[in-house]
Amino acid sequence: MESKLPHIGTTIFTVMSKLASDEGAINLSQGFPGFGADPNLLELVGKYTMKGFNQYPPMAGILGLRQILAEKTQLTQGYLPDPEREVTIVSGATEALFAAASAVVRRGDEVFVLEPAYDSYEPAITLNGGKPVYVPLEEKDFSVNWQSVRDAITEKTRAIFVNSPHNPSGYVWTKSDLDELADLIRGREIFVISDEVYEHITFDGKKHLSLGSHKELREKTFVCGSFGKTFHVTGWKIGYCIAPPEMTTEFRKIHQYLTFTTVTPMQYALAEYLEKPERYLSIPDFYQKKRDLFISGLSQTDFQFRPSSGSFFQLVNFGHLSKMADRELAERMTKELKVACIPVSVFYSDKKDNQVLRFCFAKEEAELLEALDRLRDLNRILA
Ligand code: PMP
Ligand code: GLN
Repeated sequence: MESKLPHIGTTIFTVMSKLASDEGAINLSQGFPGFGADPNLLELVGKYTMKGFNQYPPMAGILGLRQILAEKTQLTQGYLPDPEREVTIVSGATEALFAAASAVVRRGDEVFVLEPAYDSYEPAITLNGGKPVYVPLEEKDFSVNWQSVRDAITEKTRAIFVNSPHNPSGYVWTKSDLDELADLIRGREIFVISDEVYEHITFDGKKHLSLGSHKELREKTFVCGSFGKTFHVTGWKIGYCIAPPEMTTEFRKIHQYLTFTTVTPMQYALAEYLEKPERYLSIPDFYQKKRDLFISGLSQTDFQFRPSSGSFFQLVNFGHLSKMADRELAERMTKELKVACIPVSVFYSDKKDNQVLRFCFAKEEAELLEALDRLRDLNRILA
């Protein structure tokens, strides 16, 4: 059978997690929390399951969850989306990103991907007949080189994927980034697919600016989010998309034939859980402690790094220590030091190797300390 995605294999996240498990290594590769969710949230799932909320919910999601999400958006981003016409609950941000791409990308359209980039964007473009156009982020800090984006625009440019806080680098977009993007697409029919799954994980007082918070961008943007990331329940696969009514109408046409709806009791549980804003407003502090602990340990190793500004990932450079390929080092670290991470070359379309590794620090303190201790033996591998 001729593959529609000939160059795509099993994702690196699955590959490295399996290797970590086979090797009995601490798994700082695939991004998922190593600790449980708030028991209050778990109890709510039990409550709604037992109450019999187990049949199909409305196609766009239960109204209660859409309403409270709209209120959260007003509180954190300063605008109130219409829960009826602009908010859709979906089965994870992955679905939101795919459905948004399906809604706007037509055969032959060009879609910008700023790389390094998360791996689900490219198939979402190509399976819909589009062509990804890769624009590199700045190597030193992963900020956007707006001139390069501007230079790549053609009549066929139809959409751009953006991701802030950024996976893998942690770069957080500034107001000036939002203004640059607005300026770039003004007067053109270019849609924005904004991956904001790490919206509540920012550090050092930096604030996440949703593209929806920008009045002009809001008119063209699908804001895609993930409750899994926010509340440490990645296995629930529940997320959302906020977009203007006309775009939401098209988005829902895809959503209703991709999954139709999203797991009912989790929707009720999240709707009640979100009533207390401190439950999400406390997340930056919670993760800041983990990031600080992790980078303070990293500074005792030979890796070089810039502290991550957001997401639960930290990049490190090792080019000054060795000529080894990043993938080889990641595999050897997993096997020999028993600490797994992700080689960042996988986030580039051409697998460019800048000798950078990504660690996930969404783990219990004891696990992070143990991993850091093992990383002190790095020279054993590099020698
Ligand atoms: N985008 C990015 C940048 C991610 O890191 C992830 C997490 N795997 C996703 C999207 C997918 O989110 P979800 O699990 O809600 O589908
Ligand atoms: N987003 C997660 C990461 O970047 C992984 C999710 C997945 O395994 N697809 O590690």
